Amino acid sequence: MSKPDPQKQREFAIEAVRILQQAGFEACFAGGCVRDQLLGREPKDFDIATSARPDEVRDLFGHRRTLPIGASFGVITVLGPRGAGQFDVATFRSDGKYSDGRHPDEVRFSSAEEDAQRRDFTINGMFFDPVNERIIDYVGGQVDLERCVVRAIGAAEVRFAEDKLRMLRAVRFAATLAFELEAETAAAISRMADQLTAVSSERIAAEMQRMLVDPHRLRALTMLRYTRLAEVLFAGINVHDESSWDRALRTADHLDAPGYALALAAVLGELTDSRTAGELGQKWRLSNEVLRRLTWLVSNRAELTGAAQLPWYRIQPLLIHPGAADLVALCAARAEIGQFDPADVDFCRQRLLWPAERLDPPALLSGDDLVARGVPQGSVYRELLSAVRDAQLQGEIQTQADALALVDRLLKSR
Ligand code: ATP
Ligand code: MG
Repeated sequence: MSKPDPQKQREFAIEAVRILQQAGFEACFAGGCVRDQLLGREPKDFDIATSARPDEVRDLFGHRRTLPIGASFGVITVLGPRGAGQFDVATFRSDGKYSDGRHPDEVRFSSAEEDAQRRDFTINGMFFDPVNERIIDYVGGQVDLERCVVRAIGAAEVRFAEDKLRMLRAVRFAATLAFELEAETAAAISRMADQLTAVSSERIAAEMQRMLVDPHRLRALTMLRYTRLAEVLFAGINVHDESSWDRALRTADHLDAPGYALALAAVLGELTDSRTAGELGQKWRLSNEVLRRLTWLVSNRAELTGAAQLPWYRIQPLLIHPGAADLVALCAARAEIGQFDPADVDFCRQRLLWPAERLDPPALLSGDDLVARGVPQGSVYRELLSAVRDAQLQGEIQTQADALALVDRLLKSR
């Protein structure tokens, strides 16, 4: 599906609210999109809340244009016309008891006010009626938004006990919006941080991704540490050593629009080794791609040291690796905090600008060439080919004939 056009998305969402209201129901925008709009940001998507029941929503928009995937908790997905994307229409509800520390056991359809009360933070608990252009705020969200505060709706401790993921969400919103955590909300997290283990690894990893790729990652990490969530998230890794933690923060802070693996590698590289970083990545069920990149970056983070002086054949394999740009970015960030020589970073950056055939020229010899030459098969092949490759990269030999002559010399001298 192509990316929806924000303008069309918004127009259709307003149209949907109008359709619901004209049918006699209450309907409004809810949650994140109201917050984003008040902050002058483009909402990622529009969520609509309504007094209509799921079957009434389906009848109104037609079964062909709706998906009942979330109907059991009151959510109907409405498919917009071309380019308008899709959005969720959720019946006002209150959540029942939470016995697993993450999901309500049941939901009950209710009023707009109760629906606001079940939401996590005041800034996320507002409604906006786009037809009458009216904010409906039962939870003091506007004041907190103006004061730049993330505050749990109701008693923080109770709300975090219901759903422990909210502790991480609190930090994520506070960090990425550059807001403060309200004192009692922060204190409740500090008291309850240990309970984060009730949250699935995937959800933890997804929240961490959003925090770490965000430009405010230093703020996020700082908040995670003072709320004690960091020690739970990074269990088995020492987050209490001031100097390594400080390096981790500052390295991460110097990254420019990093991917998840790079951002995580910047942090973990200062705190632990690649094996432990890999174990954490596995625990978080990172994708193989991210996990492989992460461990590669952590284990090679010092390998470009001295790059400008080392033989090119030592550095070249790192710079033709798919992670090369990330590795050089990591070294650059470390150089910013005095942990790496900027001259080596410059050298690597220059080399990365080389055209592919210069950076990684085709091999002069293959195993087949050695067979044709009558070299007896065995481990010597690997040695010979790597010696030929090194000589080629060093510029000592240029042609296949040079390569074969080198092979002969090496065989003779064995
Ligand atoms: P974004 O999508 O930008 O992360 P959002 O506020 O839209 O921010 P969502 O996760 O999409 O966040 O959730 C939409 C709304 O649902 C939230 O604004 C909030 O009102 C409510 N909500 C989401 N998750 C929870 C939760 N775990 N507990 C209580 N309310 C929640
Ligand atoms: Mg959202």
